[in-house]
Amino acid sequence: MIKTDILIIGAGPTGLFTVFEAGLLKLKCHLIDALPQPGGQCSELYPKKPIYDIPGFPEILAGDLTSNLLEQGKQFQPGFTLGERAETIEKLEDRSFIVTTNKGTQHHAPIIAIAGGLGSFEPRKPQLENIEKYEDNGLAYFIKDPEVYRNKKVVIAGGGDSALDWSIFLADVASKVTLVHRRNEFRGALDSVERVQELKLINKINIITPAEITELHGENKIEGVSVTKNGETEFIEADEFIPLFGLSPKLGPIGNWGLEIEKNAIKVDTLDYQTNIPGIYAIGDVNTYEGKLKLILCGFHEATLMCQSAYKRLNPGKKFVLKYTTVSGINGFDGSRKESPKAVVKAIL
Ligand SMILES: Cc1cc2nc3c(=O)[nH]c(=O)nc-3n(C[C@H](O)[C@H](O)[C@H](O)COP(=O)(O)OP(=O)(O)OC[C@H]3O[C@@H](n4cnc5c(N)ncnc54)[C@H](O)[C@@H]3O)c2cc1C
Repeated sequence: MIKTDILIIGAGPTGLFTVFEAGLLKLKCHLIDALPQPGGQCSELYPKKPIYDIPGFPEILAGDLTSNLLEQGKQFQPGFTLGERAETIEKLEDRSFIVTTNKGTQHHAPIIAIAGGLGSFEPRKPQLENIEKYEDNGLAYFIKDPEVYRNKKVVIAGGGDSALDWSIFLADVASKVTLVHRRNEFRGALDSVERVQELKLINKINIITPAEITELHGENKIEGVSVTKNGETEFIEADEFIPLFGLSPKLGPIGNWGLEIEKNAIKVDTLDYQTNIPGIYAIGDVNTYEGKLKLILCGFHEATLMCQSAYKRLNPGKKFVLKYTTVSGINGFDGSRKESPKAVVKAIL
């Protein structure tokens, strides 16, 4: 059982900034995310795009914003359960909660912060017979550890950035990479498209277009796929098949937690972004209230106020004094200390 003060569901920008704000109040956080890496929409949908409306950053790449948020929160030693979806919640008699993921990992916390954005990102699966049988048996919708593919025959399907980037990366890891796409044109960053073309010319990537995977083969695990092009079908030997057709967000199981939902978002009050269940907050893109804006900076604001409310709930009656970080400095949970130089009291003679 993982125990923490604030359990954050969703490691997007809002969830990551919550770690910092909670840390200032000496509250420890643990994050769950369905994706294998933190960053939410920023790292999954547009890591290489510049954002222009983050206060203090005239321009910052979404991927760099994620790295900075991780760096900012590191001193508060957050825990992560990645690649798992928060599935069920149970309220205990002492008002705390147990959240269990689809893989059975249990988390216990007195405060839940749902920072689930548009919902958990679920892979778009191709319509292929028996596809479930091969999931985790040579078929994966995410690449968690590229080493799994070392010296293997890999077939990737898809025509976007993920399919291109992973084909390029695995060209140096796998023994053979075949990229199958239903159109001749790929939709991705220009440099990735050009790099794939170069790798094709030196036989590092085999590209089959316009084509589709029409059948999966293998007794208990993937042993090959059928690829159909212009009505002709060929068998391609494969140890691993990776369909990368993008992700679709779904509010998913959180929608059944007894929370008040409006238009696929969780209703909160604007005092502290608490839901209709005391102790459960909803912040960032996942919540709704009058005047709501789905912007990163709004998520940061909501996370800050939510942490103050969580602190008061956990420390009833304790007086809280807001301190500027410039004045108080920061005491990391890792023993680190950041502080601005103290004023020097010295006579000037
Ligand atoms: C192309 C594009 C460009 C954008 N440009 C800007 C911009 O310029 N400026 C700006 O301010 N905003 C921009 N946005 C919006 C911005 O990305 C979002 O407002 C922001 O990502 C919201 O952050 P979040 O942390 O609330 O949610 P998200 O980033 O959506 O993260 C939520 C995370 O929660 C996880 N999750 C959800 N449910 C579960 C569950 N049950 N179990 C486990 N994990 C779960 C998801 O997997 C996801 O990783 C843009 C969005 C897009 C798509």
